[in-house]
Parts: sequence; C-alpha cells; structure tokens
Amino acid sequence: MYRLSEKAAAIDPYDPIEGIYRIRLDANESFLLPTESDREKMAQAVLDTALNRYPDPLAKEPVAAFSALYDVDPKLVTAGNGSDELISVILSTFLQKGERVLTVSPDFSMYRFYTAITENPCITLSKNDDLQIDVDQVIETIRREKIRLFIFSNPCNPTSLGLDRAAVRRLLTETEAMIVLDEAYMDFWDQSLLSEVEQYDNLIILRTASKALGLAALRLGFAVANERLTGIIRAAKSPYNVNALTQTVASIALRNPLYKEWYPELLVQSRQQLSEGFAQMAAKGYIQKLYPSCTNFVLIEVEDAPYFHRELLDFGIAVRCFGNNRLRITAGTETENKEVLSAILSIAKHRLEEQEGTL
Ligand code: PMP
Repeated sequence: MYRLSEKAAAIDPYDPIEGIYRIRLDANESFLLPTESDREKMAQAVLDTALNRYPDPLAKEPVAAFSALYDVDPKLVTAGNGSDELISVILSTFLQKGERVLTVSPDFSMYRFYTAITENPCITLSKNDDLQIDVDQVIETIRREKIRLFIFSNPCNPTSLGLDRAAVRRLLTETEAMIVLDEAYMDFWDQSLLSEVEQYDNLIILRTASKALGLAALRLGFAVANERLTGIIRAAKSPYNVNALTQTVASIALRNPLYKEWYPELLVQSRQQLSEGFAQMAAKGYIQKLYPSCTNFVLIEVEDAPYFHRELLDFGIAVRCFGNNRLRITAGTETENKEVLSAILSIAKHRLEEQEGTL
C-alpha cells in the first residue's frame, strides 16, 4: 500500500456541519440575497459568459468594482477563490522553511490548518480570559520567538470582539513580522486599516465577499497590500483562480453600493436582536455569558455547550459549538432569531429543572 507521509496522514479536515437543517446559523453567512433585479442581471450575465474561455487571471472587473466600493487603488488588490485560498497562498509564499508563524486562540481555525500544511512551526498564544488579544504579549512574543508572520482576524471569528486601529498599528510598527490582518467581518465595524495599507510594508489585509456582502456561494475574497507584496501574491496564486461566473456575477453585486451600505446595517440590527435576547437570559442566569459583538454573530457561554448544540439540532437549528462552554450563533432573520432564542431558553430552563430535581 502507498505509504502516506505523516503530514498527509495527519490532515484534520475543516468540518462544517452537514445535513439539512431548517435554520442555519452556523456559518456566519448573510441571510439576505441580492435584490431581484440584480439577480436577473446576474442570470443574464451567466448566459453571456464564454464558458469555453479561461477567465481573466487578474479578475480585473471584480477587483475594479471592489476597489471603487472600498476606495482603494486596484493596483493593491488581488482576488482569490474565497479569502481561504488567499490565506493558503500567503502562508505558503511568504514563509521559508523553518520560519515561525504566530496565531492566537481562539481564532479562525484555517490559519493553523494552512500553516500545518506548509510545515512551518506555529506558535499559538491563548487570549486573555475575556478573549481579547493582549497586544503587549503579542509584540513581546513576536520579538522573542522571532516570528515572521502573525495572522489573526479582526473583528475575530469566533469571539466577535474587535481590536481598535491604534492597537493594530502598534503591531505593524513595533514588530518586523508580516501582519496578515483578516478583516472578513470589518463591514460590521469601523476600525478598518484599508485606507492606510500603503503606509506599511509588512501588512496584508484580507477581505471577503462572503459575509456582509452576502455572496458566500461565489467564493470571492481579496488581499490588499502595497504594490510590492501584491506583485508577489499575484505571481504566486494559481493563474485562473477566480472562475468566470464568479467574476461576472460578483461584479454586478460589487457595483451596487446597497450591499455595502445597507446590508451590513440590516445584519447588525439582526445581531442586536440576538444580543438583547441573550443579555436578558444572562441577567436571569439562563446562560453564563454574552460577549459584546461587533460582527454578525454572537458568542455565548453556557454550561455543557455540546448538549445545547445537540438539542438545537433536534429543533432543526444549526449553530457552532466551541469546546465545552461556548456557542456561536449567526444573526438570522427576525423569525430565525426568535426561534433560536426561545429554543436556547427552553433548553436552559429544562436543564435547570433537571438539576433542581436531582438536588
Ligand atoms: N476569515 C474569517 C475570519 C472567516 O470567518 C472566514 C469564513 N468563515 C474566512 C476568512 C473565509 O472566508 P471566504 O468565504 O472568503 O473563504
């Protein structure tokens, strides 16, 4: 039998929830579709696509549309097949053998996953008890451990917390590491460093069309960095990484400011509905804690999160479970939010009753 390398045998795949659930609040997606009229334009654009031709290798149309929407120079932008692909390209391109990566925990799991594939050593710092990043500790670790690249999400998935601009600037100026700043959820907050990207020679910002813009199905992400770094990312990615259908369909959405200006607002309102519901439950002791969110999802603490998770699946509701006591719940429609809030409340009450019964 073919002998697998230890590395290949050890790959632990990303494990999204499969199966059909009535309510999907597990992947931080948007609950909004593009408008009817944009979807009609998209359908026509699909019909007009030359399927026999390779797509534009630099995805110039969506890059131009993204650049106009976010007011960045298109020369600084590289499109990827989701920001996931860009994370992988960046880690495998900028690091040499043996060079160290820093991640923090909890954070988006794919950073460690792709670093494991490059076989570069990865040091992971645990966040404080309040799940905030300790910037002094990160700077000190980067210096002491000679870290070459620090990658983190801001705002963070799964904590829903953010690090303000001033703190991120400190990482950029007080260390020599490459800082890969994943702003996948920054449409929900106002601390982006996009407008300053050219001031730093060690900064790559990642953005995605999958969250606030509501285009997760298309798989489109962007890396924004100075021209020198952009030249390298463009050279390293596979040539036709963003398919023609994605390019044409996404360009229609990116040309419509509605999705950047109004959709994130609606998602934030929905998240506030969830936060208010969970705050009341926390005040009454039905859940242990609610983290203050600047994203389109909330993180809560409960006793025995896997139990809550299983029970919710029985109600037909999918959320994400982290460890023994945390659940991450994406903001959904008003009805979905009401359902998940009342399901969690009834699970919590039921547990309390059972515990009292056994006292
Ligand atoms: N970064 C973060 C922080 C995310 O949460 C996600 C998706 N869950 C991604 C990147 C990947 O996004 P994309 O759909 O663009 O690959």
